[in-house]
Amino acid sequence: MPDKPKYDLAVIGGGPAGLSAAVYAARGGLKTVVFEKGLIGGQIVVTAEVENYPGIPETLSGFEISERFHKHAKRFGTEFKEERVKAIGTEGLCKIIETDKEEYWAKTLVIATGAHPRKLQVPGEAKFTGKGVSYCATCDGALYRDKIVAVVGGGDSAVEEAIFLTKFAKKVYIIHRRDELRAVKMIQERALSNPKIKIIWDTVVQEIEGDEFLEKLHLYNRKKSNYTELKVDGLFIYVGIIPNNQLIESRVELDDLGFILTDETMHTNIPGIYAAGDITHKVLRQVITAASDGATAAFSAERWIEENKENFLKNHGM
Ligand code: NAP
Repeated sequence: MPDKPKYDLAVIGGGPAGLSAAVYAARGGLKTVVFEKGLIGGQIVVTAEVENYPGIPETLSGFEISERFHKHAKRFGTEFKEERVKAIGTEGLCKIIETDKEEYWAKTLVIATGAHPRKLQVPGEAKFTGKGVSYCATCDGALYRDKIVAVVGGGDSAVEEAIFLTKFAKKVYIIHRRDELRAVKMIQERALSNPKIKIIWDTVVQEIEGDEFLEKLHLYNRKKSNYTELKVDGLFIYVGIIPNNQLIESRVELDDLGFILTDETMHTNIPGIYAAGDITHKVLRQVITAASDGATAAFSAERWIEENKENFLKNHGM
């Protein structure tokens, strides 16, 4: 077992938050490593088009954007390890990252493992994802100008995004499984008074059907026990998101939904452990806010290392 940290900063997660942390840390002279078990890029990779990242006025696919983030992080010397992190821990001031291949020590850690949308788990959902089915109105809403779309869910996200979609779509259905929305009253009232929005109560989507693209939904009304079909061009699924917090140490403080609580420097409650992006408790989950978190986390990590320089020297010989 090493007693010296090999890296100044270890980042878990290769999405926009993790890669931005890597750009800032490596450029600032920190020896930086990013662990990513799957495809570099995170959730953004599955987004058809990104039109709202400032400074990139041309429409790029999520895949193209993530390639740019990746290239940028590599440019300053970030190391990448395609390894699944199994556990994290601490030893003195050091952070220990245990992967399926090896154990690594770092002075600081940024957790940027993201979140994933909860799936409806109905037939057709996987087949039409990116072909009419979306989990991000901010990303894909503009593709549905003058079209008919439906949103599933009754929480803040579903209702807010339905209101947002009325900027583009000519009709927006909210399909909710109960007769009462979960969203806060103010948002509910805005939706209820919007002439483009129609709420389909007590109803669940049973199947998503189409040819190459989504064409219609099979609905079931739970109160009336009847089946209907609804023709739509797009379906936005907002039935909650799930934080990827499986490997987080039990000592890291989370909110009630399992997202990591940080201060404004992206510091968690554990010294030298930071969090960034969708895994954190926040109001807006976008590439731009993930990138901002990553930059802040790297900046803060650098400061923390500097503040603890003497302790590292005394306890770990570096
Ligand atoms: P949420 O509050 O958990 O709501 C999920 C919605 O999806 C609920 O209406 C739920 O129905 C429904 N649902 C869950 N599973 C379903 C299924 N299998 N089939 C059909 N419907 C299903 O999730 P969220 O709206 O994404 O919000 C997550 C958190 O972020 C919340 O705390 C929310 O307040 C917060 N948020 C805040 C803001 C804001 O303040 N501006 C904006 C967005 C999100 P039931 O109601 O029947 O359970």
